[in-house]
Amino acid sequence: MKRRITFSLIVLVLLIIGALGFILITNDKSNSTNESAKKTSISSSKEVAKKKDLPDAKQSDWDLVLVSRKSPKDEMNPTLATVNGIQVDQRIASEVQQFLAAAQQISPAEHLISGYRSVSYQEGLYQSYVQAEMNGQGTVNSSGNPISEEEAIKNVQTYSQPPRSSEHQTGLAIDMSNIDSLNESQYAKQVAAIAPKYGFVLRFPEGKKAETGIGYEDWHFRYVGLENAKYMTEHNLTLEEYLKLLPA
Ligand SMILES: [Zn+2]
Repeated sequence: MKRRITFSLIVLVLLIIGALGFILITNDKSNSTNESAKKTSISSSKEVAKKKDLPDAKQSDWDLVLVSRKSPKDEMNPTLATVNGIQVDQRIASEVQQFLAAAQQISPAEHLISGYRSVSYQEGLYQSYVQAEMNGQGTVNSSGNPISEEEAIKNVQTYSQPPRSSEHQTGLAIDMSNIDSLNESQYAKQVAAIAPKYGFVLRFPEGKKAETGIGYEDWHFRYVGLENAKYMTEHNLTLEEYLKLLPA
């Protein structure tokens, strides 16, 4: 009799231990399932936020056209308007005017240096730069000593784009500064900071040469539209990087 009671007790204890073990294991499993479910919902809500944030734009939008050495384009012939003696695509004339006026609040000497340049004009400009470099009267080779055409072209490509590769042919790019020399304006950072308010971005920022193919240019601004300019600035994206996020 005593033995039977002891045996039943042992069985009971074993059953309890087994049951507890089972509860613990199931609990643990359901916890970890909850955790991973939580993680999934966090990352998917991030995805949604990212997409919600992205402007409703397409790669083919007129104000996002890409012209570069990697994406050369033939003569585009935009309809032009003149702002302070500089030609731009007429669709952005009032934005250029407003951006210029706002920049002049920062430095009264701010002025437009260049706007629209046709492919044929760029051709002539580029050839004259190559000639000047070859003759030693160039921007890089100002030594007075002649160099080969090949060397001259390398020099020119550090500050000018070959014809069909300059976005000045779009009429959507302007060069604007308080002085007529590149990367020497003490107001450049302040002017670049207000650009997105008018739909412009500093097109060739520091540290983005791998993306744009062009080193820092403190005076070259590109119109991309208000929403795009804000998004690109907030996310530190060049036009090349931004276009990759958009549908065709
Ligand atoms: Zn420019």
